Amino acid sequence: MKEFDYVIIGGGCAGLSLAFELEIHNKLENKTLAIIEPRSEYKKDKTWSFWKIFPHNFEDCVKKSWENFSINIPNKFAHLKCNDFPYQTIDSGLFYEKINRKLKENSNIIFFKNINNINLNNSFIFNSLPTLNSDENNLWQHFSGIEIETKNNFFDEDIFNLMDFDCEQKDSVHFFYTLPFEKNKALVETTWLSKINNSSIKNYEVQIKNYIENHLNIKNYKINYKEEGAIPLFYPSNTREKNKINIGTAGGMTRLSTGYTFLNIQEHSKYIRENIENISKAKIFKIKKKYHFLDKIFLRVLKKHPEKMPSIFFRMFNGSSKIIIKFLSNKSNFIEDLLIIFKMPKWPFIKALLKINE
Ligand SMILES: Cc1cc2nc3c(=O)[nH]c(=O)nc-3n(C[C@H](O)[C@H](O)[C@H](O)COP(=O)(O)OP(=O)(O)OC[C@H]3O[C@@H](n4cnc5c(N)ncnc54)[C@H](O)[C@@H]3O)c2cc1C
Repeated sequence: MKEFDYVIIGGGCAGLSLAFELEIHNKLENKTLAIIEPRSEYKKDKTWSFWKIFPHNFEDCVKKSWENFSINIPNKFAHLKCNDFPYQTIDSGLFYEKINRKLKENSNIIFFKNINNINLNNSFIFNSLPTLNSDENNLWQHFSGIEIETKNNFFDEDIFNLMDFDCEQKDSVHFFYTLPFEKNKALVETTWLSKINNSSIKNYEVQIKNYIENHLNIKNYKINYKEEGAIPLFYPSNTREKNKINIGTAGGMTRLSTGYTFLNIQEHSKYIRENIENISKAKIFKIKKKYHFLDKIFLRVLKKHPEKMPSIFFRMFNGSSKIIIKFLSNKSNFIEDLLIIFKMPKWPFIKALLKINE
């Protein structure tokens, strides 16, 4: 049985981000690292997007960056600026390639397909496998998207559409998300915030086809890439153990109101690297408690009043995109939190708040 100083379980976004962060800061010169990853090859399987609120290691994997975005509900459209915090999309294919190329240079780092031949007794473990309970009342952000190429130039590549709520809601929260990478290439995604077992909303292909052909009015296009996924809008039940830290989704790095995780993973990786010499004694890194609390209330309102959510999202963004971006990226101050809270319709939120205190 082989032994390693560190073991990362799951070489996905969080596992590889952490390995890369440790490697580029020379934390693996005299330490050994095993990465457990079952996939047989790395290829593009996701696009990760986020507001760049602080620098990260993957600027060279950015497929496209925007300084303008829109959000719309039936009969209302808002054009918003995000030049302070550009919205970036990372191509996971480039991300995997960059990291794997770097990690190969260090013979102290070894990949394994499973954990069977490793003795974990003396290792520090970073685990990215979430333990998700199967409560059917849990909310998920589930989505499916296709990257299309049109014959003629169709898209305005300078502005992306964050949320188009002008579509069927089916007692849930539903919007389309469009990222125009070039004038004739865009990712179009149908996104739902709902319980996962609602089969009537899972005909993603039909939804996207209808949206592209009847709403965007694009008849001639080919599909270059497809992605589908589901992000839990609840915390996994992984617990911290003496020689183990949970990272990524398993480590609670998802903002529950939005599903954004990528940049939190980067911040967590940096924190671990800064504390690696004394990692078993380091405080657990968490998204600030105030965001847990506010997101919990927000999701209660979302569950109870899905029909109100398009206009709530619209109001949240409209007028002060910089503040809401900071809020959604866990970087807002107290005054900014209050400004967001005051934009919310009072009664649904007060009722949701009181329920929490019951
Ligand atoms: C399609 C999709 C798009 C997303 N887009 C965004 C976005 O735009 N912005 C954003 O902020 N967040 C986004 N997210 C959310 C989040 O950023 C990603 O889910 C991110 O990949 C989470 O990183 P992770 O390391 O926790 O999980 P993963 O990246 O899923 O990594 C887990 C790894 O564990 C491996 N594994 C599986 N079973 C085992 C096993 N038994 N033993 C060892 N390893 C195993 C898997 O192969 C995988 O490589 C998206 C999620 C999905 C699914």
